[in-house]
Amino acid sequence: MKVPLLDLKAQYADLKAEILPAIEKLCDSQYFILGENVERLECEVAEYCCTTFACGVSSGSDALLISLMVEGIGAGDEVITSPFTFFATGGAIARVGATPVFVDIDPGTFNINADLVEEKITAKTKAIIPVHLYGQCADMDAINKIAAKHGGLVVIENGAQAIGAEYEGGRAGGFGDYGCFSFFPSKNLGAFGDGGIVTTNSEKKYELLKVFRNHGAKPKYYHKYIGGNFRLDALQAVILSIKLKHLDSWSAARQRNAAEYRALFADSKISGEVTMPLKAEHSTRHIYNQFCVLLPKGTRNGVKQVLLDAGIGVDVYYPVPLHLQECFAHLGCKPGDCPVSESVADRIIALPIYPESTKEQRQYVVSTMENALL
Ligand SMILES: *Cc1c(COP(=O)(O)O)cnc(C)c1O
Repeated sequence: MKVPLLDLKAQYADLKAEILPAIEKLCDSQYFILGENVERLECEVAEYCCTTFACGVSSGSDALLISLMVEGIGAGDEVITSPFTFFATGGAIARVGATPVFVDIDPGTFNINADLVEEKITAKTKAIIPVHLYGQCADMDAINKIAAKHGGLVVIENGAQAIGAEYEGGRAGGFGDYGCFSFFPSKNLGAFGDGGIVTTNSEKKYELLKVFRNHGAKPKYYHKYIGGNFRLDALQAVILSIKLKHLDSWSAARQRNAAEYRALFADSKISGEVTMPLKAEHSTRHIYNQFCVLLPKGTRNGVKQVLLDAGIGVDVYYPVPLHLQECFAHLGCKPGDCPVSESVADRIIALPIYPESTKEQRQYVVSTMENALL
């Protein structure tokens, strides 16, 4: 049996009849950058995320970058974030010239450990970027309280894996000053290329985001700021508007699949060996962009190979925490600085959870893992 990690062709087959005519219409218009299709998507995403505004941008990475640029964060500033995430967060902080300060994660949720944030705050700290990893919100109440207590630090949510995720009933993207989302094809809401969006409840920030995504020009050819080309393509917006209507049903299917995995592992011979991802109490809607489990120490690479050989698509998000990446060596971090992130990075593995996957496929994954571990 084959079990791919993700099967976008299955999703496309369901939507092809809707998407192709919409693309043709856009091609007929020859209007490709920003415009009414992007504006419509921005309204739809703002509504979906329960925010007042959304500004379409070129990628999730650029969503993070532009948020930092709008805040004027740069050289001499520090930004606190999680080391256990995709590189883009650390990269955006470094690209504006600021210093990333890494705070270790919670061992259950793999999100930034809010209890450890305060001790890393200095006079230079300007912002906190929690990442809603794998589709589950970070502890936003605790983080917002810390940000408020320390003179209103900027809070930028990295929701690249978490569009539609909920925390105590509120939605990802609406807790901080900015919510950054990615439409990379493998995300829960994926474009046919790169794309992203920034949500905010501040009209002032929204207006600045629109200026910064267009080289800081307002009006055209008059540059008060140095921004960049962070614009979203109309073609992506057209496709995303169609897909957004299906997002809730896909998220529900992912939740069902996660529940099936939990039940299958609980009944398996390896129930004591494989640790399921913790669904935190505050996390009222986990959208499972990934379903990542922890393997016993020292077994990950072997198990991964057995699964791959059996035709099961698995991957490791992420094998090297950011504080140990070569490009951040100058920050002087060393192994042991974020022990939970380092241990999780050695033991984590992502299993197929995409909406169209079947129970038989999950049974095969679990039984193959039994064989690998016993
Ligand atoms: C995907 C992702 C990004 C980057 O998004 P792009 O659209 O690929 O630039 C950033 N952070 C996290 C956690 C992600 O999963």
